[in-house]
Amino acid sequence: MIDTKLLEILACPECKGDVEYDMRNEKIICIDCGRKYPVKEGIPVMLIEESEPADKK
Ligand SMILES: [Zn+2]
Repeated sequence: MIDTKLLEILACPECKGDVEYDMRNEKIICIDCGRKYPVKEGIPVMLIEESEPADKK
C-alpha cells in the first residue's frame, strides 16, 4: 500500500507532473503525461528508464 503523503511529494521525472497510484495494476501513473512507473516491494521507482510510456490512444 502506498502512503498518500508519499504520493503528494512524488513527481514525474519526465514532466514534473503530479502522479497517482493505480492500485489495481500497482503502478504510479503520471496524471499529465500518462507515463507509468513500477512499484517494487511497496517503493515507487520514479525512473524514466524503468517506466512505461503512456498508452496510445
Ligand atoms: Zn509525466
